[in-house]
Amino acid sequence: MIEVRKGGNPFGSHRVIEPKGVLPQPASRIDNSMDRIWDNEILVDVDILNIDSASFTQIKEKTKDDVEAIKKEILSIVSSQGKMKNPVTGSGGIFIGTVSKVGDALQGKIDLKPGDRIASLVSLSLTPLNIEEIIEIKKDIDQVIVKAKAILFETGLYAKLPADIPPSLSMAVLDVCGAPAQTQRLVKKDDTVVIIGAGGKSGILCAYMAKQQAGPNGKVIGIEFNDQNIAILKSLNLCDEVVKLDATNALACYEMINDLTSGKMADVVINNVNIPNTEMGTILMCRHRGIAYFFSMATSFTKAALGAEGVGKDIDMLVGNGYAVGHAELALSILRESKEIRKIYEELYS
Ligand code: NAP
Repeated sequence: MIEVRKGGNPFGSHRVIEPKGVLPQPASRIDNSMDRIWDNEILVDVDILNIDSASFTQIKEKTKDDVEAIKKEILSIVSSQGKMKNPVTGSGGIFIGTVSKVGDALQGKIDLKPGDRIASLVSLSLTPLNIEEIIEIKKDIDQVIVKAKAILFETGLYAKLPADIPPSLSMAVLDVCGAPAQTQRLVKKDDTVVIIGAGGKSGILCAYMAKQQAGPNGKVIGIEFNDQNIAILKSLNLCDEVVKLDATNALACYEMINDLTSGKMADVVINNVNIPNTEMGTILMCRHRGIAYFFSMATSFTKAALGAEGVGKDIDMLVGNGYAVGHAELALSILRESKEIRKIYEELYS
């Protein structure tokens, strides 16, 4: 029997245990009890977690890729915080599951009912999560098969899973759906665009969108360090140039883009890597008054802000807001438009 309470805060602050007075994302511990919910919450039976890549990469490094140790680490984070917020990267991921209960205060306000299959579009770093069992760690695709329950707050975003795309593939794309949406907004006709981590999950979607926006006279340059992902990126033919570069090597990045653009540098640089210390490479590849978009969760605000100042770069730097209106539909539409991307993503993420 689930006890239902009234008077929950729309942003979920009623579940914050400590520190008092903050919202669920910055909180160090939130209430993840599932036998007592508020009438403005949605209770979901969760079957897959998609841990965001910066977080999963850090956990894999810490645990030396050992599956049992990864399980332990995830369970330990969730049991101490009531949510899956990586204490090092501060980032989360998303879940997919089946709606179990929609609170009375939300009836008639939202289009969900018990039995609907959804993906959360707000971060696991703020989502109350209670894991009963970890069934499998799919460490190559950052997904964790679980028996768990989660809560979506009144302001929590979600997407109903589409019928024409397998759930784990939808989830993989929805995890990063803010990136192609922001790329669509930022890239203009004839722009030169550099995408770092271009052969990864969000990088490919951004490259597709950047090429569409920049058009035939624009130039999309993909930077990637992983040989397999370079091969995938080249096979997709989305970039005018694909270069193997370590994005932590800022000077090498600068020199390469200086050569490829005859000194003009990039109008827009999009950072999609999963590792720290790529701020300076991003900044140096950007032209005067250009735009650097940091989608990566391994970005340090301090390093970017002080670094740009330190090299005298007057550029606009954008924090990677994971949300843009219509972002989920836009990302899924890429899978419907591009048979080539869909085929590769089905092989990788289904
Ligand atoms: P991904 O699939 O792991 O892609 C990252 C790519 O960068 C991979 O191909 C990776 O290679 C490559 N890379 C790693 N080190 C590199 C280096 N030194 N130089 C150049 N490339 C390098 O990650 P994703 O799922 O697309 O996510 C990208 C980033 O977005 C992550 O930081 C993730 O946490 C973040 N994210 C942000 C939001 C948001 O709301 N802003 C939401 C979700 C995710 P390997 O495969 O060899 O590592």
